[in-house]
Amino acid sequence: MSLRQENLESFKRDLLARRETLVSGVRKTTDEIIHGDEVTFADSIDQASADVDRTLAVQIQNRDRGILAQINIALRRIDAGIFGECESCDEPITEARLRANPSTTLCIECKAELESEEQRFIARG
Ligand SMILES: [Zn+2]
Repeated sequence: MSLRQENLESFKRDLLARRETLVSGVRKTTDEIIHGDEVTFADSIDQASADVDRTLAVQIQNRDRGILAQINIALRRIDAGIFGECESCDEPITEARLRANPSTTLCIECKAELESEEQRFIARG
C-alpha cells in the first residue's frame, strides 16, 4: 500500500461526500428534465430559452454521470487495496496527482508515455 491508511481513509471520505453531492445533483436535474414545465410558450423566444435550459441540464447530467463513474472506479480501487498504484508499472502514484484526479490509474510517467504514443498514432494518421 503506497498511501498511508489515514490518507486512504480521507480519500474515501472525500470521494463518498463528492458522490453524495453528485447523486443528489443528478437526481435533481433528472427531475427537472422529466417534470420540467411542459406549458406551451406563447412567446417563441421563451420556448427557445427553455429548450436551451433543457439541453444544458442534459449536458450537466452527462458530465456528472461521467464524474460519478470515475468516483466509483476510485472507490472500488480503494476497497480492492490497489488505490494509488500505477496499473502499468506498479509504482506509487503521487498524492497530489490522486487529489487532482482520484480515478487515475496511471502514474505521471506512464500517463505521459501513453499520451506520447497517442500523439504518434494521431500524427501517423
Ligand atoms: Zn507507471
